[in-house]
Amino acid sequence: MTITAGVLAVQGDVAEHVAAVERAGASYDLDVRVETIRSAGVVPDCDVLLMPGGESTTISRTIHQEGIAPEIRDHAAAGKPILATCAGLIVCSRDARDDRVADLDLVDVAVERNAFGRQKDSFEAALDVTGLDEPFPAVFIRAPAIDDVGDAEVLATVQGRPVAVRDGPIVGTSFHPELTDDSRIHDLALFQPLAADA
Ligand code: GLN
Repeated sequence: MTITAGVLAVQGDVAEHVAAVERAGASYDLDVRVETIRSAGVVPDCDVLLMPGGESTTISRTIHQEGIAPEIRDHAAAGKPILATCAGLIVCSRDARDDRVADLDLVDVAVERNAFGRQKDSFEAALDVTGLDEPFPAVFIRAPAIDDVGDAEVLATVQGRPVAVRDGPIVGTSFHPELTDDSRIHDLALFQPLAADA
């Protein structure tokens, strides 16, 4: 079976996610085709979607300008998996508490941008994540904290604050799971739901 994985590529760390999706998909008997998304018309062909980190204000502005935002909403409404990381999660949240981010309101949480400090405060943590057997090496870079969790399941916390959540077909992380060789979060968010559906 061929799976099309779309990686939103308007801005942010795209190449690392492409590699992580390919690694995660390799453990299944699947032919994974990765499409990078810069304009409307690609998302409808995707089985799974990745929304990378970067700068949430830029990503938000571009997906609305390019007409990609409604396609992402349709993808989620169809129950198709999405992994949204860092800025990607901010854009998907119910409330980014920043007027420059037009929230997609797909993940029922509010976020506080840059809650863990600036670039120089980047850190790594071995995270216990619901659904993973061993701790995950999570890299945090100008990461958002998640709060005001509504109808979402908290999958991991740091310093008592949620940093990974699941809301329906979407997994959102404050950290960057694409920055290590460990692709278990991509697997958890994107491929396990497909396998469960098959
Ligand atoms: N601080 C960025 C923002 O608010 C997110 C950082 C990241 O994606 N690494 O958009």
